[in-house]
Parts: sequence; C-alpha cells; structure tokens
Amino acid sequence: MRKKLLLGNWKMNKTPSEAKEFALGCPKMVEYAISKGIEVGVAPTFVCLQTVKENAPKGLIVAAQNCNEHPSGAYTGEISIAMLKEIGIDTVILGHSERREYNGETTEKCNEKMKALLAEGMVPVYCCGESLETFEAGKTKPWVEEQIRGGFAGIEAKDAAKIVVAYEPIWAIGTGKSATKEIAEDTIGFIRSILRELYGEVAEDIRILYGGSVKPGNIAEYMSEPDIDGALVGGASLALDSYQGLIEGLVG
Ligand code: PEP
Repeated sequence: MRKKLLLGNWKMNKTPSEAKEFALGCPKMVEYAISKGIEVGVAPTFVCLQTVKENAPKGLIVAAQNCNEHPSGAYTGEISIAMLKEIGIDTVILGHSERREYNGETTEKCNEKMKALLAEGMVPVYCCGESLETFEAGKTKPWVEEQIRGGFAGIEAKDAAKIVVAYEPIWAIGTGKSATKEIAEDTIGFIRSILRELYGEVAEDIRILYGGSVKPGNIAEYMSEPDIDGALVGGASLALDSYQGLIEGLVG
C-alpha cells in the first residue's frame, strides 16, 4: 500500500525567521496528517533547512530542493549530500522544471544525482513534465517517457522503490491552470506502466505525485484517482492555513 505524500516546495521563498515561524506553527496539523496515515513535508531553501529541522515536529519531512552529485570538491555554490545528511535531511527534490529551465539541470544529471542519493540511503523526489507546446502537440507521453527512462537508467529495482516521482506539467506550475484529474491520472498511469515495464511489481510501490496549481480546493479531486499518490505543491504550501487546507483535502 502506497502512503500518500504531501510535499510543499517553497522555492526561493521564506527567510530563516519566516521558515521558523511555519515550523513552530505546524505541529498539530502534522500530527493530524500522521494519525491519518499521510506523510507530509516541506522543501525550504538550503539556508532554512536547519532551522525548520530544529523547530518542526519530527514527523515533518524536511527536504532539500537540490543537491550536487559529487561527494565534495571544487564545485562553488553547490551543496553535497553529506552536508544534507549531517543536518538530518534525507529527501531531495531533483529535476524541478524551474531548475531544468534556469539551471541547466538535465535528465542525465538527475540520474547521476539520483544514484548518489540512493547510495546514501536518501529519497529522491524526481520531477518530470512537459511544456505547453509539447502538451498542445499531443506529445506529453513520449516526452515524459524519455524523462522517466533517463532518470531511472541503471537504477536497480530495490532502489527504484524508494524514489518518489512528481509529474508536473510545466503549463500548470504557478499558473493557476491545474491539469484536470483525468489528464493527471492519464499521464501518471502511463508513468506507472513504464515503471512496470522496467521493474515489474515494484512499480506498484513507487509513489507518483501530481504537481501544478494544487490548492486546498482541488487537492481532493486528484486523490480520488487510483495512480495519484499525493501532491507536490508550490504556492499553496507557503502559508500555514493553506497548508492545513491541503492536509484536510488530502485526508478527504
Ligand atoms: C511546484 O513548484 O512544484 C508547483 C507545483 O508549484 P505550484 O503549486 O505553485 O503550481
């Protein structure tokens, strides 16, 4: 049985004091989510990770938004997996469309990072998704298939089960134009069929989230679909009341 997961992607928002305020305000809702069998987390910026980790309840997953694939060395401006591990971080978002667009993050690079994270017992949250142009051209599936096959290349079944996939159509991110639950389920079901081809039954254990303008008012719709295991949420994950609304919608 796949556990539902709500992960807030804070992007480049919140100073450490603002992040701390969220962490101090969330214990009750985190406790409620856990009591309902749901995993919840947030992905603050690097400078806020430690303060959130120290001030939030233990049950809240605190994820990084990126990491470097090398163990250490001359990579100015980068953050290693060991650095994250040492402050208690075990989950890292990879290949978000904003990083693919503005930071040249390729599927090959995500694959290297994914392998490095898995070798350290960490959980990668691997993002994929198509542009509006690709969607309108009816080429979503081949596009996403390439991202999935490339991202999972060379990863064994025992490790693949630990990976979380997030399907985020780029045209739905931060636009207010969320994909319908039918579109989301169609693509996510397709992603699971590729994973089934690659890993057989293990594909049933891999969680696949939907992301793209998810809000308290629409999250429940997605959760009614059989292949959608939760949500990766940007804007609506920033405020405590909205985050609580997401949890309530997810619980149903
Ligand atoms: C995201 O950043 O992953 C995202 C889905 O953003 P939003 O929820 O704001 O569309």
